Amino acid sequence: MTATTTLATRLAEVRARIAQACERAGRDPAEVLLVGVSKTQPARAVRDAVAAGLLDLGENRAQDVLEQAAAASAAGLAPRWHFIGHLQRNKVREVLPVIHSLHSLDSLRLIEEIEQRWEARGDAGPLPCFLEVNIAGEEQKSGVEPADLPALLAAASKSPALLVEGLMTVAPQVSDPAQTRPVFRALRDLAAAHGLRGLSMGMTEDYPVAIEEGATLVRVGRAIFGERRT
Ligand SMILES: *Cc1c(COP(=O)(O)O)cnc(C)c1O
Repeated sequence: MTATTTLATRLAEVRARIAQACERAGRDPAEVLLVGVSKTQPARAVRDAVAAGLLDLGENRAQDVLEQAAAASAAGLAPRWHFIGHLQRNKVREVLPVIHSLHSLDSLRLIEEIEQRWEARGDAGPLPCFLEVNIAGEEQKSGVEPADLPALLAAASKSPALLVEGLMTVAPQVSDPAQTRPVFRALRDLAAAHGLRGLSMGMTEDYPVAIEEGATLVRVGRAIFGERRT
């Protein structure tokens, strides 16, 4: 099998598992957006993914999204780039024109920086964003504590530079994906309590569980692209 068929096959498998999870949960698969996480993968993998119909891609480092977006664009491709990692304020200006959405809004200072750099987006309008919440309270995790969410949400909601889509979380790594269920459920409840609809949750190990618990967007890397190149 060529690399392209392998990727297309893996992608079809992921889409089938998304459909199955939706069926178990009585949901419409059209409610769940698949974002393919291409981090550490070569530009070739991005071209194969777009050729296979995957038009939403995610990167977690500023340098990487800039390089991947430039390479894709040079090849005449225009996937939507989702920024899913911690965004440093000194990278906002460069990254803003390139990204379709930000999944990791996690501080008031980042909101201020985006407001100052907003014009860099030209006509693209306010930046769709998800507020990242550290649901499981893990030490080294990014995202705000649930208690700090109201202040962040208030600032993001009134900012003309941002369009709040919902909440995002990264579940802890566990041996049994079912153990992530309470984390996803807690994010869903938190979003509902604030009247938010979007839920960016679920990765290779746990996206079916996340979909059963209401994910509207899953961020899947290895199941589509294979193991990461470091
Ligand atoms: C790397 C990454 C993913 C994808 O991880 P996989 O386990 O490869 O599916 C999703 N979300 C975030 C925030 C990531 O950093």
